[in-house]
Order: sequence, then structure tokens, then C-alpha cells
Amino acid sequence: MAEKHRAHIRRGIELLPQLGLPQDSALGDLRWTKELILATWWQALTGKSPENIEHRIGASGGGFDRLDFKLSSSGIAAEQVSLSIPLNRRDSGQVTLSLPWYGGGMSLGSVSLNFMLSRAMAAKAAGTLTSTGEGGYPSELLPYKDHVITQVATGMFGVSEETIQSCRVMEFKYAQGAKPGLGGHLLADKVTAEVARMRESAEKTSLYSPFPFHSVYSVEDHKKHVDWVKTVHPGVLVSVKVSTPIDVEMVAIGSYDAGAHIIHIDGGYGGTGAAPEIAKKNIAMPIELAIPRVHRYLSSEGVRDKVTLIASGGIRTAYDVAKAIALGADGCVIGTAETIAVGCTHCGNCERGRGCQIGICTTDELLGQFIQPEWGARRLLNLYSSWAAQLRELLASLGLKSVQELRGRKDLLVYRR
Ligand code: SF4
Repeated sequence: MAEKHRAHIRRGIELLPQLGLPQDSALGDLRWTKELILATWWQALTGKSPENIEHRIGASGGGFDRLDFKLSSSGIAAEQVSLSIPLNRRDSGQVTLSLPWYGGGMSLGSVSLNFMLSRAMAAKAAGTLTSTGEGGYPSELLPYKDHVITQVATGMFGVSEETIQSCRVMEFKYAQGAKPGLGGHLLADKVTAEVARMRESAEKTSLYSPFPFHSVYSVEDHKKHVDWVKTVHPGVLVSVKVSTPIDVEMVAIGSYDAGAHIIHIDGGYGGTGAAPEIAKKNIAMPIELAIPRVHRYLSSEGVRDKVTLIASGGIRTAYDVAKAIALGADGCVIGTAETIAVGCTHCGNCERGRGCQIGICTTDELLGQFIQPEWGARRLLNLYSSWAAQLRELLASLGLKSVQELRGRKDLLVYRR
């Protein structure tokens, strides 16, 4: 099946010249350039950094694409560099990730079960995490439960005491950086019998996740949510995913005060093709601006070392991960990079039932078979392994022995000319 899938992609690329188009003409935009897409495919295929292709920055001319590191030779061997980060900084019961990134929420319904399984298998093998998104917790994920984040979002789809107990980290999704204030909408076309069963709904019915959580209008309301989850699953780590509004630092400190272990800020530019372009580009604050504001504010309040700050929304490469950490995050959440690793062409058809020709953002049974879990997991692990090598090399060049030493080191960043 995997070979059939590869042949399918190859055939599509080969057909482009017959349409009068160069082979890569349909790929990419200013943030995810065709070079970054091809470089991600290469890393997912080989596990190695590509040569002769730009794999560090896109062409947006701003944000992460304007930043670079001040490198020096340090004498530290890349193999000695630690990439692990702790997630629990406020009470007992440690959860440590081997890598400073994990997979963001993608629900059953928005993506295929096989892609979810690929991500869970890769998360377990790499010592990191993946999130269910808000479409419920398929039982196929149970063998990977120590590496699964259960998401509770405004639709409360598939949320039960069992799903909260089947995870090490529970994530409240209050908003998504790609479409803050808009909630979610799964088109009827994608609501198969299985998706409807998981979401306790009816087949071929459009499903909406409202905005906001109508039970939460204050920090005190939010604390009741956190207390509920901690009662159902004592010892679970609580993550709070929020967008990046203008008062993002107030949202962050409120989340901490309510008992969160992890504050996950999600800037604009993330999301799949299902998020409206106008929302992705115009509502949330870019993550590059939000991270230092939150880091600085939590530090000034004396709680920075008691909470883990995770950033997402446009993290494309290991270099973006490093820049986010240098700006003040502890780690990152990734999404689009993972879809590209298994062959996504960034075509933007994610919301349609049979729109994803690769088998990622689909609930069509046949299309979903294009991604076999073992094959998908291998692609993701190859990408992680290439990123880890790049990050270790970068940290060694900066004279740092661990990724935790990079946090908040804005002095190591320079603007590209
Ligand atoms: S290839 Fe699939 S996952 Fe990627 S953008 Fe297109 S529809 Fe979405």
C-alpha cells in the first residue's frame, strides 16, 4: 500500500509537465515554500538533512524567516546535547519529553484514523506526545495512551471519564490560533458513521464546536474545569491551549493561577486548509510576538519556572523550534510539518470529505488506506530524527549543552539582512 501511495504521488508530479506546468509549480506559498515542502519530504524519506535546498527558512520576509542565530565554535560535541524537556514544573509526578516538540490536536473526522495511529506510534517511539483533537478517543490509540493527550474542547465531542483517564496530559482547547473566535466546523460530508459514533452525533450532519466555552467566562470558571479533570484523573497534567489575543499574557497567568501545568499559546499561521485563510492571516498575534511577551510576564510574576510554555502556529522546521525557544518557549507543538512528512502537498482541500488525495485529512475509507500506520510512523520518525540532529548541531554551535539552556536567550538571535 505504501508503495502504491508513493507511486500515486510520483504520478501526480509527473503529470504536471503534461499540463504545461513545471513539476513543482503547484507547491507552496511564502511561509511553506516549495523548498521547505520538498526538504520536509526528503527528511521524512531519509531521516537526514537535505543538501542544496533551503530547509531553514521560508520566504515571508518576517517573523522566524527574519531571524538567525549568532553561531560560534564551542567545542561541544553535538551528540552530548540533551533535547529533553520536563512538562511538570509545579508539583510531583514528572513527565519528560525526549524532544522539545509534540504533535498538536487533529481529531478523528478532521484526519483519518490511520494518520492518527501513525502519529501515536511515532510519539511512543520518539518519547513524545500526540493529541487526539476534539473528535473523541478511538480505542485503537489505547496501546499508546502514555503518549496521547486527550483534548477537551467546546463541542465536548467524545469526552468521558474514561478518555480523561486514558492519558498523561489533558488539554483544554479554548481557542485555536488559526481561527480564534470562530470555533470549529466539521462538514457533513466528513461525518461518517464512525465519526458520528465517536462524537455521539448523527451521520452526514455538520458538527459545530462553539466559541467560547459557554461554561467559562472567568479564571474561576476555568479553575472549576481544571479541578473536575484533576478529580477524575489525579496526577494528570493539565494543558491549556489558547490563542494569542492582545492580552495573551493575562490569559497565560490566569491559566497558571487556575492550576495549569502547561500553557500552550497558538499563534496565527497554524491550522490545516480547513481554517479560513482570512482568519489565519488576520486575527491572532504572530507567535513570534506572543512568546516573548508571555515569557517576560510570567517571569515578572515570579512563576516562569513553575509552568511550561509551549508555542505553536507556524512551526515548520527544527530552526523554528530553536527560535521559539530562544524567544522564551520551553518547547513547541507541530502539525502541518507532520502532514507534509506523510506527503501533504499543502493544497488546502482539507475540509472536504474526498478532498485529500493523500489520505490525511479524510474520513473516506479508501483514501484513508493510503496512509498505513507503520509507514506513516516511519516517515514521522525520520523527520523527528533529522530535526533532532539539526537541533543538536545548532545548540552545540551556540555553546549550549541542553535545549533548556536556550530558553529566553534572545541575545543569541540576530536579524537576517
Ligand atoms: S494534501 Fe490533504 S492534508 Fe494536505 S493540504 Fe491537501 S487536503 Fe489538506
